[in-house]
Amino acid sequence: MPKQTPEDRVKNFDEVAQGYPPDWALGEASRCIQCPKQPCVTGCPVEVDIPGFIRAICELDLPEAVRILKSKNSLPGICGRVCPQETQCEAMCTLAKKGAPLAVGRLERFVADWELVHKSSVGAESPLAKRRGKKVAVVGSGPAGLVCAADLAKLGYQVTIFEALHAAGGVLMYGIPEFRLPKRIVQAEVDYVKSLGVDTKLDWVVGRIISVDELLHDGFAAVFLGTGAGSPMFLNIPGENLSGIYSANEFLTRVNLMKAYLFPEYRTPINIGKVVVVIGGGNVAVDAARCALRLRAKEVRVIYRRSRAEMPARQEEIENATAEGIDFRLLVNPKRFIGDEMGNVTGIECYEMGLGAPDETGRPRPVIKPGSEFIVPADTVIVALGTTPNPLISQTTEDLKIAKQGTIIADGRTGQTSKRGVWAGGDITTGAATVISAMGAGRRAATAIDTWLRDFR
Ligand SMILES: Cc1cc2nc3c(=O)[nH]c(=O)nc-3n(C[C@H](O)[C@H](O)[C@H](O)COP(=O)(O)OP(=O)(O)OC[C@H]3O[C@@H](n4cnc5c(N)ncnc54)[C@H](O)[C@@H]3O)c2cc1C
Repeated sequence: MPKQTPEDRVKNFDEVAQGYPPDWALGEASRCIQCPKQPCVTGCPVEVDIPGFIRAICELDLPEAVRILKSKNSLPGICGRVCPQETQCEAMCTLAKKGAPLAVGRLERFVADWELVHKSSVGAESPLAKRRGKKVAVVGSGPAGLVCAADLAKLGYQVTIFEALHAAGGVLMYGIPEFRLPKRIVQAEVDYVKSLGVDTKLDWVVGRIISVDELLHDGFAAVFLGTGAGSPMFLNIPGENLSGIYSANEFLTRVNLMKAYLFPEYRTPINIGKVVVVIGGGNVAVDAARCALRLRAKEVRVIYRRSRAEMPARQEEIENATAEGIDFRLLVNPKRFIGDEMGNVTGIECYEMGLGAPDETGRPRPVIKPGSEFIVPADTVIVALGTTPNPLISQTTEDLKIAKQGTIIADGRTGQTSKRGVWAGGDITTGAATVISAMGAGRRAATAIDTWLRDFR
C-alpha cells in the first residue's frame, strides 16, 4: 500500500498508509481463489462474508461490496485500518500456504473509503427503532458498545449509548493516533451507527450521573456494559512520581482527543523533552513513541523487557516505527527512575534481562541479569504497561460479579453477567485486547439480549 515516506511522515500527524488506488485493489481482489471452505470467514470474529465482498470488488460492484461488509461489520473503515488481520482472517487464507495471504484488511479499507467518498447509503439498513417498543442502554461507545448498539438498532430496539467522554468512539477516538486511524473515519462510522436510530448521550459518566440500577428502573429493559479497560498500570518503582513521567493514557488522550499537537489552536498543551523513553511493547507503546517523534522529540527509545518476538504490537507498526527512527531497546527493564533537584526525571536505571521458561501467558519469562544495571537518559518518560478496568461501574452496581483483576465476569458466548438484565463485553470483560474482539463481544451480546427480550421478559 502506498505510504508517506518516513522522512515526511515524522513531520505530520496525517495518515501514514494512503490506501489502495482502484486498480491495485482490483488486482489484489482478483488473487482471491474463492475457496469453498472459506477459512477466512472462520478467522473473523464478526464473520464477515469475505469472499462475498471480494467477489463484488472483482465485479466492480462496490455498492454490493459495501452492503455485504456492513451487514456483518458496522465499522469497516476502522477494522480495515487497525485490526490485526495477520493473526485472524489473513492467517487462515489459503493463499498463505504458498505465499502472501490476500490483503483482506486493505481491501476492507478500500471499500469503506469508497463508501465515504461516494456517500453511498447502500450499507445502511432502514432503522426499525421503536418497532419492538423496548429500550436498551449501552454504556461506553468503544467498538464493543458501538457494535452492540448498531446490531440492536438493526433488530428494532430503541438504543441509547451513554458515554463518559465528550466524543464517542472509545480508544478509537482517544487512544489510537490520527496517523493510524484518522478521527474523521471514526466519526463517520459513529455517524453510521447513529443513522440506525441510536441515540448517544455524551458526558454521561454511568456510576456518577446515573447508576446501572437506575437505568434498569428508568425503563431500559437491558443494559450492555462496554466500558473498556481505561485505567493505566504503573511499575510501582522508586521515582515514578517525578515530573516528566506520563501514563500512555494521559499522553495519548492529550494528543489525540484534546489535539495537543495543535496547541495553542487547541487549548491542551503537552510538554515533550528532547529524549523520550517509552516503556512497554504493545500497540500503545509504539503509538506513544511515534507521537513523541512527531512532537519533535530528538530521540525516542522504546524499552521492552522481552525480545522482539514477544512484542504484542502489530508487526507492521513496529516496522513503520523502526523506519521512522524509533530505537527499540529490547530485553531491558526499569529498576528506578532518576531525577534532578527540581524533581524532573533525567533517566531510568535499568536491568538487562534474559529469557527464562514460559510463564502463564506461554511467553518466555523475563529474568533479571544480576549486576547488569545501567542508565538510560530521559527527560520525558511514557509508561505504556497496559490497562485495567476503571472500578466505577463495579463499585456502584449491585450483584455484578467481578474478577480479581477488576474485569466483569460474563459468559464468553453471550456476555451475560451475574446481574439480571445486564450484559458486558470487550476490554471490560477480557482486559486490554483488540478492536475486533470487542466488536465480536458486542455482536454476541446483542444477539443474546434480543433472545432474552423476546423469550424471557
Ligand atoms: C493506543 C492504543 C492503540 C491500540 N491499537 C490497537 C490496534 O492497532 N488494533 C487493535 O485491534 N486494538 C488496538 N488497541 C486495543 C483496542 O483499541 C481496544 O481493545 C478496544 O478499543 C476495546 O474496545 P471496548 O469497546 O471494549 O472499550 P474502549 O474502546 O475502551 O471504549 C470504552 C468506552 O467506555 C467509556 N466509559 C468508561 N467508563 C464509563 C462510564 N462509567 N460511563 C460511561 N462511559 C464509560 C470510555 O470513555 C470509552 O469511550 C489499542 C489500544 C490503545 C489504547
